Amino acid sequence: MPSMKLHLTILASAIMTLAISAHAAAVSEETRQISEVPIKNLEESFTRKFGATTPLQWGENVTGVITGGSGAAKKIALTMDACGGHKGMGIDMELITFLEREKIPATLFLNARWIDGNMALFEKLASNPLFEIANHGFAHKPASVNGEKAYGISGTRNVSELVDEIELNARKIGRLTGKRPAFYRSGTAFYDEVAVKVANRLGQKVAGFNILGDAGATFSREKVKEAILSAKPGAIIIIHMNHPEAETGKGAISALPELIRRGYRFVKLSEMEMQ
Ligand SMILES: [Zn+2]
Repeated sequence: MPSMKLHLTILASAIMTLAISAHAAAVSEETRQISEVPIKNLEESFTRKFGATTPLQWGENVTGVITGGSGAAKKIALTMDACGGHKGMGIDMELITFLEREKIPATLFLNARWIDGNMALFEKLASNPLFEIANHGFAHKPASVNGEKAYGISGTRNVSELVDEIELNARKIGRLTGKRPAFYRSGTAFYDEVAVKVANRLGQKVAGFNILGDAGATFSREKVKEAILSAKPGAIIIIHMNHPEAETGKGAISALPELIRRGYRFVKLSEMEMQ
């Protein structure tokens, strides 16, 4: 009965489609609702839930941080941070123009201060489907529930401050682009594991990395190139797009075409199958 089999196949795929769209609807509903809750209420409810928990981990790769794709396909996600603040408001136009010309997608982690100082450019980047806009925090603080420091920078002091740090920039990007970001990376990329849970409950997946591409824009061109060329399937590369004076851009520009020649495909983070 081939026609019966065909019908069953169509029915099964229709059920799958329904299930997937129901899931997507549920996720977007939850996200929409978070954006509409007054921020004070969020601070209070998250403090009630997480305020008494003492974190046990502090670092870049704590429990819950995504540090790579599944590696099933030769996909690489290039992620670029723009941190804002003193000395961090720049933009590496040579690198951006190169990505646009070569049609290499990237996920851009943008801090609220950087967005405010580069609004016209932000709008241009956000309207280009090549780029996915992600959340790099409101004040670029390490994500802590008790004020831990990273590189001498004090983290958020409590759950309430952490909620503000994540949520205020998620809302800002959502308001400006019509699309709430799906990924968050804290200032300095340091977390405790409770902070990661808080981010997840705010609908933000926490994006780490497995290729340190420029070490805060301090690597030489050769070192950037070497780091990027060490990428394997499922790599998440982190570099900075806000330091045109550094050698990050030149190193990236010399390395990325070589990875494409090796058969890799660059994808946005939301297009990467995660571990
Ligand atoms: Zn940063």
